[in-house]
Amino acid sequence: MKAVLLIEDDDALRSMIGALLEEHGWKVFAAEDGEAGLNLARQYRPDVVVCDLLMPRCNGYQVCRAIRATPELHDTRIVMLSGRDYSTDKLNALEAGADEYLVKPVLPTELGATLLRLTSGEVPAAPVPAAHPARIPDGPPRVKFWGVRGSIASPGPGTNFYGGNTSCVEVRAEGEIIVLDAGTGIRSLGLSLTQEFNSQPLNITLLLTHTHWDHIQGFPFFMPAYEPRNTVRILGYEGARQGLAATLGAQMESPYFPVGLKELPGNITIEELRDMEFMVGKVRVRAMFVNHPGICVGYRIEASGGSVVFIPDNEPFHRMRSQPPGTDTTTIEFAREQDEKLIQFISGADILIMDAQYDAVEYEEHIGWGHACVDDVVDIASRARVKQLYLFHHDPTHDDERVSRMLAYARSLASTGLLVEAAREGLEAVIKR
Ligand SMILES: [Zn+2]
Ligand SMILES: [Zn+2]
Repeated sequence: MKAVLLIEDDDALRSMIGALLEEHGWKVFAAEDGEAGLNLARQYRPDVVVCDLLMPRCNGYQVCRAIRATPELHDTRIVMLSGRDYSTDKLNALEAGADEYLVKPVLPTELGATLLRLTSGEVPAAPVPAAHPARIPDGPPRVKFWGVRGSIASPGPGTNFYGGNTSCVEVRAEGEIIVLDAGTGIRSLGLSLTQEFNSQPLNITLLLTHTHWDHIQGFPFFMPAYEPRNTVRILGYEGARQGLAATLGAQMESPYFPVGLKELPGNITIEELRDMEFMVGKVRVRAMFVNHPGICVGYRIEASGGSVVFIPDNEPFHRMRSQPPGTDTTTIEFAREQDEKLIQFISGADILIMDAQYDAVEYEEHIGWGHACVDDVVDIASRARVKQLYLFHHDPTHDDERVSRMLAYARSLASTGLLVEAAREGLEAVIKR
């Protein structure tokens, strides 16, 4: 006989639920506050604990956390009951360790079904991609910039031309919608996709280079993630401290945002990548770890119509490691080799989008910050025989005039055949071969 522990301070409700569960064959233990409930849980190890949220002496969150911290109660399932129908309370309960959150008044049939499901060992089904997703027209690969700024969004009259939103680039290739990074620019991309495809289901792949704020902060405002018929597959590499899912979920915890990542109605999957090469439909993607604090990659997207390389944050090794003057030759040689590997990764790309946050003077003040000086970026692109270079991750203190001056300077350095542009919001580039 399965056992349930009922922790509820309302006497009438406790008796009523207890009697109903007994009728349905459950062995019932009951407690009228959290502290007494925890003592009974440790003593009898019930299959399920049904626990009220707001109770004297120990609230439901505390009960959940205490149960989850008790190894002998590892298999005990927890159902939280609450009179409060706020998504943030539900999220807090799930994060504290509850398996279910039911809002009062709870129908006896609903509670009974929940208990049976939780104790039957059933695994919830994984989300399935949309059955008839919108068809993305074929054609040459296309890139559109939705956020080009680095570090922090910087809207205002001074940044109107290039834009103030942080890192987000859309690539359409081989019938796929691939989104690079989820900085604040992803908000406008989401609105645009919703409008373009009206109500057709979408399959979207989001590739994250890393989880610094300027690369993930827009995700909670990405409307396609709120549409149940859409599938959003998020791919990236594990962070330095914790997994990708934990990091993305953390920015949506209730102190920061009213809707939790797990509560988003869209089919969201988060996959931590292990291999440095993988497919998105017919598009081959390669990744490379770059020189930036924490774990950070660049992506190379290889479609039949052309290639796009995205390296939004990177500090070229040579200029960084050859400081101060007189650095030993072994270190300098190592730095050269590392830059050489990057050049090979980029080699022959049709479009290169690359961190060019500083000029050479500013760089001197920012050595070890993880960003590039424009001189090095043009040099790398030239040596890699790239066709089009887009300066990216503009410094938040650089106004339009300053970015334009950096662009003019970059063009003056570029080798023949290399087209240089500064990325700006709304700019589209189509690969023509
Ligand atoms: Zn960044
Ligand atoms: Zn970063």
